[in-house]
Amino acid sequence: MDQQIQSRIKEQLEAELERLEVEVAEIEREGHEALSEASGENNYRDHMADQGSATFERELDMTLDENVRAALAEVRKALARIEDGTYGTCERCSQPISDSRLEAMPTANLCITCKAAEEAR
Ligand SMILES: [Zn+2]
Repeated sequence: MDQQIQSRIKEQLEAELERLEVEVAEIEREGHEALSEASGENNYRDHMADQGSATFERELDMTLDENVRAALAEVRKALARIEDGTYGTCERCSQPISDSRLEAMPTANLCITCKAAEEAR
């Protein structure tokens, strides 16, 4: 693929990696705070409604947490593919992934055809 496009995408990925690492650190910090708040809440059995919403919020946090970690893993894999020179090659059919697809979705590891086939399964 075009080296200029690849180095631009690499910059994008590195910026994204940095952003996600900050986000994970933030979530971990908030997670610890939520845990200590939760243990305090157990003393107040009257506040069942509050506890319910707190549990709900923690579940939302966990989903967010998983999404951020998954995104971080994707970005790391994409950067590793740039390093080993396999970036921009479909992992399934080994055909080049189009530059426009990679620019729109820098972590793409499948070409549009294989991605569509995978989603259709
Ligand atoms: Zn493919």
